[in-house]
Amino acid sequence: MILYSYGPQEGSTKTINAKCSHCGAETMAITMFQKVFSLFGLPIIPYSKSYSLHCLNCNSNYDPNTYNIDIKSLKMNYTWKAFIGWVIIIAFFSWLQVDSDKNVQKIAAYAQSPQIEDVVVYKSKDNSKTPYIFFKIIKIDSEKVYLLASKYAYNKLHKAYLEAEDAVQSDFDTEVVEITKDGLKNLQVEKWIRKTQAKVK
Ligand SMILES: [Zn+2]
Repeated sequence: MILYSYGPQEGSTKTINAKCSHCGAETMAITMFQKVFSLFGLPIIPYSKSYSLHCLNCNSNYDPNTYNIDIKSLKMNYTWKAFIGWVIIIAFFSWLQVDSDKNVQKIAAYAQSPQIEDVVVYKSKDNSKTPYIFFKIIKIDSEKVYLLASKYAYNKLHKAYLEAEDAVQSDFDTEVVEITKDGLKNLQVEKWIRKTQAKVK
């Protein structure tokens, strides 16, 4: 995928009164081409304009300068096509935000009613280099939740999440750790993986 590119795209067109020296028609069209900086193929910043003049009757092309056309007075502004990338970029980040909000809501709901076999990825405050740890819930009673922590801690959330999703018994410590239900709610949980059928609405 092309990271960024510069290039012309066709902008707006206006008809003007000018006489074609080839066929004698009195009306010609001037087209503005806008050079645009694009990121991932999405136009976001226009940075220069060029113009071409052509006859609507015989299609002859001319350099507008030779016709002494006052291009500035035509006020040919950059068109929406030069900025269309912003629409897609903003939509993408809005979607990310909605997705993130949903994740937060899901975690809050799961933390209210933890289930055995849930796997939870959280961010520890103790280890700044490898703060991401996951654990599996193995037992729940009226006050406490019992869990097995992952053998390893991770420096990136996505790494911990990938491991947690496919975790097998040997990925966990054998020592059982207990935490109160309130303590569980207060952990900085990043992902809550529930594979059982009974999902919280
Ligand atoms: Zn012509």
